[in-house]
Parts: sequence; C-alpha cells; structure tokens
Amino acid sequence: MKIHEYQGKQILREFGVPVPRGIPAFTVDEAVHAAEQLGGPVWVVKAQIHAGGRGKGGGVKLARSVDEVRQIAGQMLGMQLITHQTGPEGQTVRRLLIEEGADIRHEYYAGLVIDRASQKVALMASSEGGMDIEEVAAHTPEKLHKVWVDPLVGLEDVDALSLCEKIGLPVASRAEAARALQSLYKAFWEKDASLAEINPLILQGDGGIKALDAKFNFDDNALFRHPELVAMRDLDEEDPAEIEASKYDLSYIQLDGNIACLVNGAGLAMATMDTIKLFGGDPANFLDVGGGATAEKVTAAFKIMLHNPQVKAILVNIFGGIMRCDVIAEGLIAASRAVGLKVPLVVRMKGTNEDLGKSMLAESGLPIISAETLADAARQVVAAVA
Ligand code: ADP
Ligand code: MG
Repeated sequence: MKIHEYQGKQILREFGVPVPRGIPAFTVDEAVHAAEQLGGPVWVVKAQIHAGGRGKGGGVKLARSVDEVRQIAGQMLGMQLITHQTGPEGQTVRRLLIEEGADIRHEYYAGLVIDRASQKVALMASSEGGMDIEEVAAHTPEKLHKVWVDPLVGLEDVDALSLCEKIGLPVASRAEAARALQSLYKAFWEKDASLAEINPLILQGDGGIKALDAKFNFDDNALFRHPELVAMRDLDEEDPAEIEASKYDLSYIQLDGNIACLVNGAGLAMATMDTIKLFGGDPANFLDVGGGATAEKVTAAFKIMLHNPQVKAILVNIFGGIMRCDVIAEGLIAASRAVGLKVPLVVRMKGTNEDLGKSMLAESGLPIISAETLADAARQVVAAVA
C-alpha cells in the first residue's frame, strides 16, 4: 500500500525526522487558509498523487504571496499530472500540500528497502539527491552509498555517521542527519514498510537537516496490525479493477496485453503468463482466483477481466486439486451467460472431476475452445487474437 507525501511526513514527524511545516488542502479555499496559517514569505504548493517526479511534471510550485498560492492551487486541483511514474494518461490531482518554503543549501538522497539476498534492510544515501536520483543510480552508481542494517541490531550510530560522512555532509550537520536516518529506519521498521525514501533530504542554509519529500510503501500482509495506516489509504489513487478484485479476495493485476488469464494458484498463473509469452502472446492481467473459488467468485473475476477494453480472448487454466473442475465449469458457464461473452474463451482444466467439468462445458452450447495441455491452450488463445 502507498500513501501520500503529506501522510508520509506525518509519520516522519512522529518518529522525530525534521520536516517543514505544512498543511494538506482539498480545495482552493483550504489552500489559501493553509497558506495564511503557515505565514510567508515563501510557500510551496505540492500536488499529492501516489507517484514521484512531480517536480518535473509541474506538480511542485513556489508561491511568493497568498494570492499566488490561490492561483497555483486553482490550476493544480483537478489537473491530470503526468510524470515518468504515472503513465501517459497521468493522475488526477485531488489533494495538495501547502508547505513553508525551505532554504536549500544542498539536496541529498536517503532510502531504505528490504534486501532479500542479505536478509537485511539496505540503507542507501547519496550526495546527488533531488529530481535525478534514477540517473545517478544508472550512470554513477559509485555515488550511491549503502549500509546493510541487521534488523536484530538496528541502525547503529557508527554506521549512520559514516554514511553521512561518505555523502559529504559538513561535520557540524552530521549528528543531526545521522539521527534523522536512525529515525527514518525506526519508522520503516515499526510501520512494516517495504520502502521508505526521503528525496531530497536537505541541508539548510543554517546547517539544519530536513526531509522535503517522503515516500512510503507498506507490506500489505502486515496491514492488519496497522489500522492507522489503513486509514490513510486513498482509493482514488488505486486501480478500480484491482479494488473491485480485492472485494472478492481475488489477486488481480492489470497488464498491457490482450489475453486475459484466469488461473488458480499464483505459481500456475505465472507459468501460464510465461507460456502465453512463449507462444508470442501478451497477457492482459495476472489473476489468481485462489484455492477455494466459488461460481460467484469466478463470475466476478470474469466481469473484472472483461472490463478491460484491451481483452481480445480469455485463457482459463485450472488445476483441480481442492478446487473441483465441475465447480469451475459451472462458474464459467454462468459467467459467460451473465456477461454475454463476445471474445474467444479457451479452457484447459485438469484434475478432480475433470471429465464432468469438460462435459458440462461441451453441453452448455457456448463457443468454448477446449485444450488438453498448457502448450495447446496457449497456442490456441494466441491464434485466437492473431
Ligand atoms: P518529486 O520527488 O515528486 O519531484 P519533491 O517533493 O521531491 O517532489 O519536490 C521536488 C523538488 O522541489 C525538490 O527536489 C526540491 O528542490 C523542491 N521542493 C520541494 N519541497 C520544497 C519546499 N518545502 N521548499 C523548497 N523547495 C521544495
Ligand atoms: Mg522527491
């Protein structure tokens, strides 16, 4: 799960990372009121969307008067903000953060991710923070310094301080920056984050340290113990098909291709997508209906898949273990009738009650293409969209 910058800064503040004073706003009037409350002379109006690269896309603007705040807020609210992370259609701006303007002497980068290989948390920092950190990582990786933190020990003073030295922070500011990194680590750990990033972490004219941006991703599997994070969820920022799927407990991820896949089991779903690719096709989605799917669940899954206008054919690949093939067949028939299926449907099912399932499909009168093997199924569905 992702959250907005202003929510991320609220968490940073709680954990003791210094952040600028700022107030979220949902309307122009709220933005003006926020600016008045903060007081000038300089404000920054920041579009809140779940994507980075806002600065370059026109989603972060400096204002030198309350009138300018009003004008910028009016332009930003409701705009489609396009950044390198949003895709070409962009994301609608519905919330703003009005923040005091910071006195930036230098922009650094700090980020935390889980490193599965070492089973530790990787802390990365760089002197080259700001809006081009991806370029730094790609072209001058030696400027990205790393420390691996053992979760049983935490981020120790010595490691935090030496990282601050490596990225060239002035001596007088290192202790404060090291404390900020330790607080960031603590927030990352206690909130079960999978990613936490401050870019830029700035050195101010007066030598102070502040987080000017905040990005968090949280582990969905740990959300049950963080109701305070769940309360920060913004459904406007999420894919409507994925929200609908989560209501039925379906794992659905929309992709760019035109062959919809309905599979039971995440591993089998991945293998099915690989096989489609192998035969020259492109999956339109990942969809795992789970082990105990009912006819109802299959119908919901069908509707979600077909909502995607890209879909030109469907491949159903079912292994009947706990799941019975006849239950799937019942669901497929009901779903095909309910949605008035207009695209070719290729079905491959194996396992428990396979024969019963197949004869139900054959007797349904629906134009279903039956396949014996996965290769056969993939070949047929690729041929159907060609
Ligand atoms: P993004 O990463 O989405 O582009 P940021 O929050 O990092 O958005 O803002 C982009 C840039 O805008 C920062 O690198 C910084 O130079 C400037 N900026 C952001 N917030 C402030 C602020 N409160 N005061 C002054 N400059 C800011
Ligand atoms: Mg940033």
